[in-house]
Amino acid sequence: MADMAAAIISERMQFNSEDASALAKELRVGFDSGKTRSYQWRASQIEALIKLTQNHEEEIVRALYSDLSKPHTEAFVHELAANLSVVLIFVLSLIMAVEEPRRVFDAEAASSLMKELRGTFASGKTRSYEWRVSQLKTFLKLLDDHEQEIVDGLLSDLSKPPLESVVYEIGMLKNSCKVVLKELKHWMKPEKAKTSITTFPSSAEIVSEPLGVVLVISAWNYPFLLSLDPVIGAIAAGNAVVLKPSEIAPATSSLMAKLLGEYMDSSCIRVVEGAVDETSALLQQKWDKIFYTGNGRIGRIVMTAAAKHLTPVVLELGGKSPVVVDSNINLQVASRRIIAGKWGCNNGQACISPDYIITTKDYAPKLVDALKTELEAFYGEHPLESKDLSRIVNSNHFARLTKLLDEDKVSGKIVYGGERNESKLRIAPTLLLDVPRNSMIMNEEIFGPLLPIITVDKLEESFDVINSGTKPLAAYLFTNNKKLKEQFVKTISAGGLVVNDTTLHLAVHTLPFGGVGESGIGAYHGKFSFDAFSHKKAVLYRSFLGDAALRYPPYTNTKLRVMKALIGGGILGIIRALFGWS
Ligand code: NAD
Repeated sequence: MADMAAAIISERMQFNSEDASALAKELRVGFDSGKTRSYQWRASQIEALIKLTQNHEEEIVRALYSDLSKPHTEAFVHELAANLSVVLIFVLSLIMAVEEPRRVFDAEAASSLMKELRGTFASGKTRSYEWRVSQLKTFLKLLDDHEQEIVDGLLSDLSKPPLESVVYEIGMLKNSCKVVLKELKHWMKPEKAKTSITTFPSSAEIVSEPLGVVLVISAWNYPFLLSLDPVIGAIAAGNAVVLKPSEIAPATSSLMAKLLGEYMDSSCIRVVEGAVDETSALLQQKWDKIFYTGNGRIGRIVMTAAAKHLTPVVLELGGKSPVVVDSNINLQVASRRIIAGKWGCNNGQACISPDYIITTKDYAPKLVDALKTELEAFYGEHPLESKDLSRIVNSNHFARLTKLLDEDKVSGKIVYGGERNESKLRIAPTLLLDVPRNSMIMNEEIFGPLLPIITVDKLEESFDVINSGTKPLAAYLFTNNKKLKEQFVKTISAGGLVVNDTTLHLAVHTLPFGGVGESGIGAYHGKFSFDAFSHKKAVLYRSFLGDAALRYPPYTNTKLRVMKALIGGGILGIIRALFGWS
């Protein structure tokens, strides 16, 4: 007994603040995985506690006697049967009663939500300039009022460094709002269009009208930005909108549901949280546009569902974004910019992060050395401990990435990094040199902190390597060679290109952001967001003057000649036709 007590005390004494911090971190990873949120998990744990008290009744009674000399009957009646078991069973029944009904967001719920929003849209409320502006101003206030909560949510979902959250998620959204508030009046004005002699006299314009009720489905990696940037576009264009955030970033998802519910006009702007079942229920409805961000496999599911109702889609997908590195460059600046776009963007879990590098055989060792030096300067000798790197989002993605790294023909190619910590879901920045082209890592989007480098004899060959794959979302080139730049822009088809930097095109609101081919359909940002959620209505104005008999029966040869000349366009031709010279 005394030995046991000493052992307990010494163990207790060994449990210091470092242990407490490690324990808290471990539990946070468990919590962040979303496991504890589900009804099933809660019920199973309460059931396990009931079983524990029943199976170890005798031991518990003995322990109470040892600590307090508590009489057996009192221990049994007060602590176990009468209290604990009853309380546990009561809690279980409460969980069942409270949780079960909340889980249902089915097709019926989706249909009734749609009806409600259609009603509001039909009332014309969302069409006015004033409504759009008031919602966007309110949204800016939401961002200001809750910056810390948003940062905390992203920390919980991804251990995203606060600077990245403030700049790349909140800051980008604020900019989007400000651009809309500055330009909206101008964008909403009908655009004058030229008319031709065929319709003379007439005038024409293009009127941007809202599409109606739209659905935004978003991904987990920039869960705040990717959800709300399209919503800003939908509001700017005067639509009612439903947002379905990613269940893989649960803290951000529930925060958005709460904050949008509190701040925004809930008769037209709604959040539906959930995973496959809830998204499928939403996809059964007839939307006026579906804006989806995520991988191409689910993109196909979304497009199939949309096709049933002839609903147009924007698909913001991914791909393998290459970086071509020439030798005549400022290597330190190039290395830093590659690192910023890769590990400085959610630890490589970003759609436009560099996926792989192509350089020449001769230059590769220099590039690897420069990347190593800068990586160490940024993240230290123990990058697994760095607070400036996001963690891998969950254990599925951790397993996916380690599988890429552990493939036989790849694992020996690591030239830097490779360390991992499964319980903390951390993988260090990792460089691989000369991985075989037929490896898994070179045939699927990496979406994580691994960066393979492949080599070619001449840099020009890299364009053929890129073009032999599917069209990427982004492609990057570092060079000072003018001819190479021109060739790159001319021959590489990708969502967007950047010369001598990475990822920054995303921040230029005058550029469209979207993919091509396998990397996506459609684009947004700035005016392109407004256009993505608008219908461009053609309007032609005529008066009752100049009513030419030409277009009416009976059709004659003269009418045919003049019509042909009119379609041909030349004034001389028309005169000749009128005089019968042609
Ligand atoms: P994800 O797992 O969060 O899925 C995206 C959305 O699809 C979620 O809202 C999810 O609930 C929903 N979904 C999942 N399964 C579904 C199903 N069976 N039916 C209907 N809906 C379903 O995100 P992800 O796909 O892992 O995101 C990563 C991918 O997204 C990468 O390929 C990345 O390149 C791409 N991406 C692209 C952009 C861009 O702007 N082009 C931005 C971020 C990510």
